[in-house]
Amino acid sequence: MASNGGINSIVIIPWSSGIDSTGLIFKAHKENRKIHAHFIEMHQERFIKHIYESKHVEMLRSHIYKNYFHFDFSRSVFDLSLCPSGTRFWSEEVELVIVARLAVHFSGFFKKVEVWDGRIKEDDTNPSMTKRFSRRSSSFDFLKSLTWEIDNVELKTPFKDVSKKDIWNDILPEDVRKLTFSCNQPLLSGTCGKCKNCIDRRRIIK
Ligand SMILES: [Zn+2]
Repeated sequence: MASNGGINSIVIIPWSSGIDSTGLIFKAHKENRKIHAHFIEMHQERFIKHIYESKHVEMLRSHIYKNYFHFDFSRSVFDLSLCPSGTRFWSEEVELVIVARLAVHFSGFFKKVEVWDGRIKEDDTNPSMTKRFSRRSSSFDFLKSLTWEIDNVELKTPFKDVSKKDIWNDILPEDVRKLTFSCNQPLLSGTCGKCKNCIDRRRIIK
């Protein structure tokens, strides 16, 4: 496929084990892209989300390898207590810097590097998500501008016109759906059932 650079291009997918980012992996595979999924184990005081995400990433990875296809994978661990205040803002910035660093690394080996962001259709009607993406997009351009000659790196949003329900129904196989993890504030006993992600998940499963 000349349009995506064939074997000379790579797709980096920041992977959280959620529905959207796991959907991106299946989409990239369907398009015969070379995939590098990256999971950031983000430690935050009192939060245990990273423990669940880490577990689900490993379950999904072995399941997909065994039953579907292989893809490259790496992970980083970051402790947000190293930041001045352990807020959401910092976790976004940290993720961006780690992913941009990975993109710069690959830009030396591939003609084209794409970073696939998990933005979905519903985010258009969610002001905080829209703001988040435009912040991410401009920070990404800024990070690129700091590094010498990496104009072959691009931030893309393949699901910007696709709903979460479409990803669930049309992109993820049934056995894979069950292994994804969405909750934003899990408890030791499991998913909270109350956060936006839990509500969204219940809504699309219906
Ligand atoms: Zn939840």
